Amino acid sequence: MKYDLLLFDADDTLLDFKRSEDVSFQIILAKNGIVGDVKAFHESYKVINDLLWSQHAEGLVSKDFLKVERFRKFLEVNNLEADPNQLCDDYLDTLPSQVFLIEGAVELLKTLHGKIPLVIVTNGIGVVQHKRLLNSGLKPYIELMVISEECGFSKPDRRIFDYTFEILNRSHLSSRTLMIGDKLETDILGAKNIEIDSCWFNPDKTSNVTTISPTYEIQNILELLRIL
Ligand SMILES: [Mg+2]
Repeated sequence: MKYDLLLFDADDTLLDFKRSEDVSFQIILAKNGIVGDVKAFHESYKVINDLLWSQHAEGLVSKDFLKVERFRKFLEVNNLEADPNQLCDDYLDTLPSQVFLIEGAVELLKTLHGKIPLVIVTNGIGVVQHKRLLNSGLKPYIELMVISEECGFSKPDRRIFDYTFEILNRSHLSSRTLMIGDKLETDILGAKNIEIDSCWFNPDKTSNVTTISPTYEIQNILELLRIL
């Protein structure tokens, strides 16, 4: 094998986060008595949520503020009556139990397990990601999961990778490490920042309009087996 360590992103690379979000959102609306066009409500929420996460990335708002504010703003914009704190709590409770896998993820990890160390490096909330990994059934194949909230740095910051290598007791400049992920701005740029190869998982064949170029690009996660 060309590589002796694989770093995987979790959401929308191994776990189908979009589907988890969709289903969880539907569940919490129903639980809080909100009826109407659920699809339109979710689109509205996603715009608000994305904006707040961008503001968080710029250091303008805290994660604790964001967690409730996205629901407060969603209710306000859509003229709905409900408690944003309750929606926030329900969402964080529901999300980890609604886990769906990316097609081929189990087969891939089963095939590679025992042959090469499989590590997850994810930007997310600690308690949520631990529960999701457990519920996904992928945990037995994963040697280590590094979560941005626990480490204090998020991809593409190289310090989350430095932290990962430190725990694994490996050299920082390991040319035999491959990072696999769906986001150019976090996963692929992060790999570039630490000078390792990268594989862009791009199932929707989105065109790359950035200046960030991955070493490889795949449409199906199982295509990774041909690269290794
Ligand atoms: Mg991702």
